This record gives sequence, C-alpha cells and structure tokens, in this order.
Amino acid sequence: MNDLGPAPIAAPTLDLDTIRAQFPILAEPIHGKRLAYLDNAATTQKPLAVLHALDDYYRHANANVHRAVHELAARATSRYEGARDRIAAFFSTQREQIVFTRGTTESINIVARCFLLPRLSPGDEVLITGMEHHSNIVPWQLVGAKVVAAPVLDDGSLDLDAWRGLISPRTKLISVVQVSNSLGTINPIADMIAAAKAHGIPVLVDGAQAIAHSRVDLSTLGADFYCGSAHKTFGPTGCGFLWARSEHYESMIPWLGGGDMIRTVSFEHSTWNEVPYKFEAGTPDISGAIGFAASLDWIEQVGLDAIAAHEHELLEYGTAALAQIDGLRMIGTARHKAGILSFVIDQAHPHDVGAILDQDGVAVRTGHHCTMPLMHRFGVPATIRASLAVYNGRDDIDQLATALRKACRLLR
Ligand code: PLP
Repeated sequence: MNDLGPAPIAAPTLDLDTIRAQFPILAEPIHGKRLAYLDNAATTQKPLAVLHALDDYYRHANANVHRAVHELAARATSRYEGARDRIAAFFSTQREQIVFTRGTTESINIVARCFLLPRLSPGDEVLITGMEHHSNIVPWQLVGAKVVAAPVLDDGSLDLDAWRGLISPRTKLISVVQVSNSLGTINPIADMIAAAKAHGIPVLVDGAQAIAHSRVDLSTLGADFYCGSAHKTFGPTGCGFLWARSEHYESMIPWLGGGDMIRTVSFEHSTWNEVPYKFEAGTPDISGAIGFAASLDWIEQVGLDAIAAHEHELLEYGTAALAQIDGLRMIGTARHKAGILSFVIDQAHPHDVGAILDQDGVAVRTGHHCTMPLMHRFGVPATIRASLAVYNGRDDIDQLATALRKACRLLR
C-alpha cells in the first residue's frame, strides 16, 4: 500500500527464530547481556544473504564497472546493473529511473541542486512538514529556497488543513517524509500528492523509513521524486537511490562531474551520458548496490505483508508495555503510525536513560534524531527512541521495559 495504511488483517505470520538466525549480529552479547536491537530507524542489521552477496562479489567479481572488456569487469558490471534491475522491479519502475546515490541525503541534495536551483527565483518556497529529517530541510536552505513547514498536531500527525493552506503560487516544490523517523507518523502521501498535482507542483517523497516496512509502487504513486537508503532495508551503508520522472532527469543538470557521467569530453566542451549514468560520476558503490539488491530479495522472501503485520502487532504490544511505566510520556501517538516508540521520562535525561539501557543490552537511540524543529515543537531537547524491525519480538520489548524501570529507579 503506497500510503502505508493499516497492516493487512490476515497477513502470514513470521517464524522469528528462523529470521533471527539469519542475523549473526543479534547473537552478539553486549556487556554480557542478550542484545535487544531497537535502533532500526538509525540503521538495520544485515542478514546472511546480504553478507554473502558482498563476500561473493569481492571474492568472485571485483573489478570496476562499465570500463574494461575483461571477465571480472563483465561480472562486476552485470551484478551492478542487475542490482539496478532488482531495485527497479521492487519499486515497480523502470531501471533508467533508478540513480544510485550514497543514500536519501545525497538524493535530496541532488534534487535541490540539479532540479530546484536552476528554477528558483527570490522568494520561492519549498513546502515541507514540521516533522522532516534535517536532510529534507537543509538542502533546500543551501540552494536559497525559503523553507515553509506545515505544523504538526499534538498527536504527531500532520495538520493537513494547515498544510493545504500553505500551498501558494510561491511553492516551487513540495517535499514530505513518508514515515517520520522520530515519531513513526505515517503521512497521507497519496492525498498530498493529489493535492500538489492539482496545483501543478512537483513532489518529493522521502521514503527512508518506509521502504523496509510496506510496499511502495512508484508506477502508481504519482510522485515526482522518491528516495531511500539501503542501510534502512537490511542492506549496506553508503548506498541508496533517487527515483525521478524521466522528464525531470532529462531536464536536470548533472550533479558531480567526472568519469562515467560523460559521453564526450574535450577541453572546450563536454557532453553527458544518458540517464541514469549522467548522475553517477566516478566509481560507484558497486558492492553497496549489490548488497542493496540482496536485501530487497531478502525482504521479498519474508514478505512485506508479513513484516508489516508483525511490526504492527509489536508496536501495539510495545505501546501498551511502555504505558505501564511511571512518568513515561509517549511522543507521537498518531493513528497511522509505523513501528517507532519515541518517549521521554520525567526527571531523567534521555542520554542517561540510553546509557543505562545499553548496559542491559538494549540498543535505542537518544537525541534529536536529526529532527531538531520537531523536538522544539514538542518542547523537548531529545527523546528516547525504540524503533522496530522484522527481527524484533516481544522479548525485546520486555527487555526494554525492564531496563527502563531500572533506569527510572537509578535516575529519579
Ligand atoms: N530521511 C529520513 C526520514 C531518515 O530517517 C533518514 C535517516 O535516518 C534520512 C532521511 C537520511 O538518510 P541517510 O542518512 O541514509 O542519507
């Protein structure tokens, strides 16, 4: 479902032991304790399928892509381009529309530099929401756009009416996070895209927190730009993708200059390679792309419906478990919410809580989660964030709750 609506009712169940056995790091003792890894919104752990794909590439196919005629170069090129095919198929789109980048951050920066900047006049605005990651705020500021942020309601959902009211003739681009990394709020992106289209305004969707948890069909979504990061989908760090409508790619100036992105070079004048290579200057993250594709294969094998249903059940269990803890305030209680539990505890600084949890093997993120304006909106400098993935179970939540009670005893 494109807008990540409620999880399907009759989704298949998961065999958690089998899933966990595929993530060697989950068996790693932390300070002598069992690891409860609940920092998946920051980055996910990697299954054997991904580790094997990386190992196999470096053992049997390592070479530079697109350049040489020797066998290893052919293997590297075929695996790298095969990865592009795989990613395109996963998102129901064309391979030419997938540009490999270093991740969501770089993808948004490309749109800011190559699409927005040449079209920007003084006073032009980019409409975002108050729950955006810094990577969906700062790139627009860097190119000189005025950032306008729609307010977030008390439950962490977007004030959609206010958002609609902020669309103006000055709005050059609308950019929105599909799932908030800090609160888990799922934004109604299908409705938002329809509203933007009615005004003829292009839309970018930041899918960083969405793509490992529910199906995204780029052939029907209607966005102009979409991006994500491999490390959030059980793939390697430092790799991700930008998707754009072909006409946008054609009209955009290249991002970086160098090898592979050119068709011809002379000292007077150079011409550009075709899309997607026009935006992939230099040696790409070949193994990253291969690992990314392997991670999507792995997700497909487990099944996105099963993943969504499992995480939804766990979110409800976790929400109920944390509600029992004295002085704990959940931030972000929107009805449409992904597997993120963000909270503060009276009289206890999030960092101190996080350090105590770590001693008990519980990995959470504490801080502003790269969403300083959102923290400001809720009047807190930081939250404690437990973010769920397919390999988490009730035992992880129970371990978190026990460690939180201990932190409360120690800190208050
Ligand atoms: N957008 C959202 C919603 C995120 O959660 C993140 C990462 O946490 C990013 C963008 C940036 O992703 P990356 O650091 O992989 O570029």
